[in-house]
Amino acid sequence: DHLVNQIAAGEVVERPASALKEMLENSLDAGSTRISVDLAQGGIKLIRVTDNGGGIAAEDLPLALDRHATSKIASLDDLESVATLGFRGEGLASVASVSRLTLVSRPQDAEHAHQIIAIDGTLHPVEPAAHPHGTSVEVVDLYFNTPARRKFLKSENTEYAHCAATFERIALAYPEVEFLLRHNGKVAWRLPSQSAEDRVAALLGKDFVAAAIPLDSQAGPLALTGFVASPTYSKASRDAQYFYVNGRFVRDKTAQHALRQAYRDVLHHDRHPAYALFFTLEPSGVDVNVHPTKIEVRFRESQAVHQFLFHSVHKALAGTTA
Ligand code: ADP
Ligand code: MG
Repeated sequence: DHLVNQIAAGEVVERPASALKEMLENSLDAGSTRISVDLAQGGIKLIRVTDNGGGIAAEDLPLALDRHATSKIASLDDLESVATLGFRGEGLASVASVSRLTLVSRPQDAEHAHQIIAIDGTLHPVEPAAHPHGTSVEVVDLYFNTPARRKFLKSENTEYAHCAATFERIALAYPEVEFLLRHNGKVAWRLPSQSAEDRVAALLGKDFVAAAIPLDSQAGPLALTGFVASPTYSKASRDAQYFYVNGRFVRDKTAQHALRQAYRDVLHHDRHPAYALFFTLEPSGVDVNVHPTKIEVRFRESQAVHQFLFHSVHKALAGTTA
């Protein structure tokens, strides 16, 4: 079972940034309004995520680290309408099987906190602990027990860059949540609760905002908000391609194709389209259970989605060149 967990962990926890993603998604699912991240040595030495969300009851702490235990869906049918970022119940179990993990939590109605420690995937007894309302997950020495995987990690700087990118992708989609990111004790991002526009400006910078065309369109259950950059956005600037489906950052072929086509139609080029776009549709219109890390999705009516995205972006771009 231990080995099975470690092998499965490889699919979900490819590197520190993937562990961070699982942890941040759990904090958001718990309804947190404030989330802090501490990293050391690119996340290899330490990833600690602290939130002020709903917390986990003492008796549920072992369950939270159990593979396939999720509190978010009760049956397969619920997958149709899943509104949380997690639902597979393997994020924390995977991280725990390849690290020394401490989970400390205090639900809103609990007098004090409890904690559980997992080393190498083995759970220690639940004990009382000190913690404010909310949850902290601390992951130390990722892959200490799987040297073969550890060998595949890149330099601290590279692993940190992946962690920062993961943090930024998530922070961009949750502007109402306050975020803090520290690396080796130094603050990298301090983001207050703010408007979507201010969050985009904070994370993507002034040159993106100066070139950004706001977008807000709707057709039935489909809605698209956010910004597309006009051609004045210098292609020397770093790539800014952020596309979200129901609050989840994804790489989607349908969306990429629709956007490229709109850029080509209006601007006669499709080099470096830059965008931060938030697409929402009814949960049953999209299958998020295609890939263990949920980076890919499948739309039930991909043609309708393609058309909607194309027209929305086309209209926004054309409006500025007319
Ligand atoms: P999933 O998110 O797919 O349900 P995880 O393995 O990521 O699975 O987490 C397992 C369970 O632990 C969650 O269903 C949730 O009940 C609980 N949990 C994990 N992190 C937190 C958190 N930060 N706050 C509250 N509950 C949490
Ligand atoms: Mg999760």
